[in-house]
Amino acid sequence: QAAAPKKTQSETIKVCVRCRPLSSEETAKGHAVVVENNKKTGEIFVRRPFVEEAPKQFTFDGVFDWTSQQSEIYTETSAPIIANVLEGYNGTIFAYGQTGTGKTHTMTGSESDHKERGIMPRAFEDVFKSIECDSVKTQFLVRASYLEIYNEEIRDLLSKNPKNKLDLHEKPESGVYVRDLSYFAVKNVQEIQDVMLIGSKNRSVRETNMNAHSSRSHSLFTITVERSEIGADGKAHIRVGKLNMVDLAGSERLAKTGASGDGLREATKINLSLSTLCHVISALTDPKSTYIPYRDSKLTRLLQDSLGGNTKTVMISNVGPADYNYDETMNTLRYASRAK
Ligand code: ADP
Ligand code: MG
Repeated sequence: QAAAPKKTQSETIKVCVRCRPLSSEETAKGHAVVVENNKKTGEIFVRRPFVEEAPKQFTFDGVFDWTSQQSEIYTETSAPIIANVLEGYNGTIFAYGQTGTGKTHTMTGSESDHKERGIMPRAFEDVFKSIECDSVKTQFLVRASYLEIYNEEIRDLLSKNPKNKLDLHEKPESGVYVRDLSYFAVKNVQEIQDVMLIGSKNRSVRETNMNAHSSRSHSLFTITVERSEIGADGKAHIRVGKLNMVDLAGSERLAKTGASGDGLREATKINLSLSTLCHVISALTDPKSTYIPYRDSKLTRLLQDSLGGNTKTVMISNVGPADYNYDETMNTLRYASRAK
């Protein structure tokens, strides 16, 4: 029956919501909290400010509120994906949401406060912890790359010339890849952490040169784990798993940013990758769908081998709790429900 594949896919694609706390500025301005989260049932309720009506209700695979710590988010949403990657499968973690709702906090977190480190540094630790615990007969090769997609253009965040645009290519045997993208072989947590910092620094340089850059670009950090084991037959058996961690562009709508001209073209392209991602994920979770539109955007083409099939995906949709964000919060939750 039709219900069966849906169940399998819902195990491989999870959609969660994380609601950040009111900021001190929001509190000072007297903004009301209009979002109510139920961590136990995965329900979230949103009340339209100044209107007497029943709150809108949504249900997700997981709901996290402002009491949820970074460690909890990692354990609940990402740890199973990292375990899978170490077994040789691909996995993808997305942070989605309006600018200012906590995407970067969720993915990268704080550099200075250890407790507040995000999913990426925790994933690095888990990868190398697991490698250290493995048998000496198993050899590992861990490589990292870091790129961003801005205006449907791909740039290498680890390159000496981060301004160069890179192109997508396709090979029958290895699939879609970015030509000339830098890959760094890393031997421990410190080395991969350094790679992340170089990329993040390049990203912020671009941010200062270009207004609101980080809210308009998607960043993709990829770890490839190759494990080589000598089997009973005396031959090396190689398994490769790939972990993608994506800090998506801000999902805020055009109307609010008042985009026009170049800004409009940009926003359309940002929405191309975001809306295609939504179509891809909903097609993957719909047992009736026969066509997955991977090729419609750079982001989804690039992630084609890491979405669907025997890969694992989690989308963490970030929202703010305040009344003035009501429309954006509803948009995010609607997008997330469609992806579910
Ligand atoms: P985004 O990347 O979506 O634009 P940020 O991650 O930069 O948003 O978050 C915006 C601000 O809110 C930052 O100052 C961040 O530290 C804070 N913040 C976000 N999420 C949380 C949270 N769960 N708890 C505490 N502060 C948070
Ligand atoms: Mg950000």
